[in-house]
Amino acid sequence: MTHRTRPRSRICANCDGFASAAITLGSRNRRGHLRTITAHCPACHGTGTTTRPAVRQAVSV
Ligand SMILES: [Zn+2]
Repeated sequence: MTHRTRPRSRICANCDGFASAAITLGSRNRRGHLRTITAHCPACHGTGTTTRPAVRQAVSV
């Protein structure tokens, strides 16, 4: 018997789990570090998972 306890959260379908991405602004600050901004997925707000059940579109056999 395999009885696994899974978290109810699913991988976000919008970002496929990659909820946040660092985007370089192309310039460096005074310390020489590359300036980046972090963009979060608007669907899951940067968590990478969603509590909503994924909508299955087509069942391929
Ligand atoms: Zn997402």
